[in-house]
Amino acid sequence: MPPLDRADEVTGPRRAGTRPPSSPDLSLLLRALRLEVKRGRQDDAIEGGFSVAMVSWLVAAAEGAPEELAVRLRRAAEAYRTYPAMSEQQRADLCAKSIRAFEIYAGRYRAPSPPPLTSLASPLSVLRGVGPRRAEALGALGLHTIEDLLRHYPLRYDDRRANQPLGAFEHRQTASLKVTVCGPGRVRRPGGRLLAEVPAECGGEGLSLVWFNQPYMAGRFAEGAALLVTGQVMIRQGLYSLSVAECEALPVDGGEEDLGEGTITPIYAAGAGVAQTFLRRLVREAFEQCEHLPESVVPEPVAASRELGTLSAALQAVHLPQDMEELRRARARISYEELFLLQAALATRRLHVVHDAPATGVEVDGLAERFGESLPFAPTAAQVRVIADMAADLGQPRPANRLIHGDVGAGKTVCAAFALLAAAAAGRQAAIMAPTELLAEQHHRTLNDLLAPHGIVCRLLVGSMGQAAKNHAYRELERGERAVVVGTHALFQERVRFSDLAVVVVDEQHRFGVKQRAELASKGLRPNVFVMSATPIPRTLALTAYGDFDVSVLDQLPPGRRPVQTVLAWGKERRSAYETLAARVANGRQAYVVCPLIDGGDETQLAGAEREFNRLRAGDLACFRLGLLHGRIDSTERDELMEQFRAGRLDILVATTVIEVGVDVPNATVMLVENAERFGLAQLHQLRGRVARGEHEGLCVLLTRARSPEVIDRLQVLERTADGFEIAEEDLRRRGPGELTGTRQSGLPELKLCDLTADTQTLVRAREDAFGVLEHDPQLAEPEHAALRTALDRLEQDSEGWAM
Ligand code: ADP
Ligand code: MG
Repeated sequence: MPPLDRADEVTGPRRAGTRPPSSPDLSLLLRALRLEVKRGRQDDAIEGGFSVAMVSWLVAAAEGAPEELAVRLRRAAEAYRTYPAMSEQQRADLCAKSIRAFEIYAGRYRAPSPPPLTSLASPLSVLRGVGPRRAEALGALGLHTIEDLLRHYPLRYDDRRANQPLGAFEHRQTASLKVTVCGPGRVRRPGGRLLAEVPAECGGEGLSLVWFNQPYMAGRFAEGAALLVTGQVMIRQGLYSLSVAECEALPVDGGEEDLGEGTITPIYAAGAGVAQTFLRRLVREAFEQCEHLPESVVPEPVAASRELGTLSAALQAVHLPQDMEELRRARARISYEELFLLQAALATRRLHVVHDAPATGVEVDGLAERFGESLPFAPTAAQVRVIADMAADLGQPRPANRLIHGDVGAGKTVCAAFALLAAAAAGRQAAIMAPTELLAEQHHRTLNDLLAPHGIVCRLLVGSMGQAAKNHAYRELERGERAVVVGTHALFQERVRFSDLAVVVVDEQHRFGVKQRAELASKGLRPNVFVMSATPIPRTLALTAYGDFDVSVLDQLPPGRRPVQTVLAWGKERRSAYETLAARVANGRQAYVVCPLIDGGDETQLAGAEREFNRLRAGDLACFRLGLLHGRIDSTERDELMEQFRAGRLDILVATTVIEVGVDVPNATVMLVENAERFGLAQLHQLRGRVARGEHEGLCVLLTRARSPEVIDRLQVLERTADGFEIAEEDLRRRGPGELTGTRQSGLPELKLCDLTADTQTLVRAREDAFGVLEHDPQLAEPEHAALRTALDRLEQDSEGWAM
């Protein structure tokens, strides 16, 4: 139920008998206030000075008003006397306070008891004009409560402050114009393009408004309608037209006040039944009516030391900015707020791991050295360092939570082997999980080799194994007869029980969901967790998605590695690419041909692995031994194929991205990627890592038919750099953080406004501050931390649990 009908309040007639005869008409004051706010609080909403008028109205209204109100009105009059000398912030505060107070009082005269106040949790239906249908339309946008609305941040802004004459614009410039429709629209079809054309007039000059592919726009406007249109100005033979991108009907005089014209206008994600103007009005009204704006979760001292300003001012400024600088600061303020909460969530998680965990220490005395000596090669300095980090973690009474990231081929498997060995040597159990069966099988082989000197034989557990073999593995693990198991998600299954799981290694971690990791971890009693990622993670993401992990970086490749020479090839160059491949294979090397799909089908331009395999086998590469590998090939056949390839009985493997991770055949040094534009940069970098494994220089040819400069530009990053970090940053910049952040079920807050690629510095500060607060007051018991505690509790309830 709306507390009061505000439309009536402001513009409508008084209803006799509903208020005391002496009640002053506050609607005039309210109108003046709203206008003043709209005009940027320049004290010019009223001729002769807004504040001067306010003072005299307030004094007059106090005359004869009930005593309680009269006192307040006189106090307000005093305040407005000093208005001209006030700072912008003071003016804003005073206006906002008055608007709220007057509305409340206006309401009191109507009803004997004060109306219920609008709070953040109130449904949007308390706002004027939101009936059931509108409420539903808003709900479809995820907007249910006042708070949802206040946090529905604009996607972008149109600067509509400059109200320049038409003549001031040049061809192709973007303009916002206030125009009047001056004739019937018509539909035209010049050069096959369908367009609606509506004649209009702007400041005495004629122009036509043009909509492409929206013929219905021609009949939409009545003659005389006032519109605010934004779009590209086109000037042909001295005639103006505007290719309209956005159009709003302006109210005819006396109607609903316009909220876009002459301002920096927010553009929201809108939808069916929810127009921009409507949202804008709603947001404004929410601000005016809401009793308390959202409270900042950032404790006062932190906010003060970072000179953050209030969250409520920032929220207002983000929705109703006065100028660009204010907007920039407000966005930074809200970004900080979001990042602070995120980092606080991570910090709590980290602290819980520290405090709740029973002793999990694994005895590792001298083990790192013995392990190093048992390797078939000397470990790199980076490997020694990371293994030392892991050993130190294992020696602690609290469980490890460490992310190890290093570029493709840096030698992470060796580090994993150490952690597995540590558990086994202490008489406990360890599991390593890989994202594909192919990789699990390869790990199984590699780890058996690496651990053999220590008398350890690993068990493989993957989905495609026969039931009898699986049952056998389950039994061994449950009884503690097997120390180390290598597997895929088959390791999460209910049936798998460990007797004493001390170490979990997750390889190629980015391929797993947070929940899957949590499931595995929950099988043991808070095991030590080591997470490996070959996709180098940009620093910003490392601090957010993995903010509760300690991080070790394997920043050194084993000796003798050279970056893979990478070239982009189109059109005729395809031929020579295949010739190069053939020449290298004839020289005894092996090669991969990677396709985006298993079977592209006839209708698509994409190369399917199956089709490509048949084409190559029959044509260009007929003289070589070819194999076909993809996800639908069953596991026995796949094992055989890999074994043949490894043993050099196959020359060329035509494959899908199943070979993306882990496959390690040193003699394979050439890779051709078909339809390279279909892959992410990080993925291509990972793929080419397959041909950088041996003594021969690797070559990766990226084949594409794409012509768009954007695609080419993106792929050229790989020609230019071999630095996985740079590539990951580039990917993040171009594609956004995607699934790595914002996983709802992870119990982490969403970043709604914050742009991770732009806000590194804010991120680092927020992290420092949040970890500082939680280290100081882990229970958040101090009163100044109450808001933060409430927010974190709420997240906890929303999450589906996090066990790691
Ligand atoms: P990734 O980090 O991509 O998982 P791997 O662990 O698969 O890398 O190692 C890539 C290759 O480098 C393997 O063939 C491995 O045997 C080899 N390797 C790892 N460490 C060293 C080292 N210190 N010296 C020489 N070769 C190494
Ligand atoms: Mg690996």
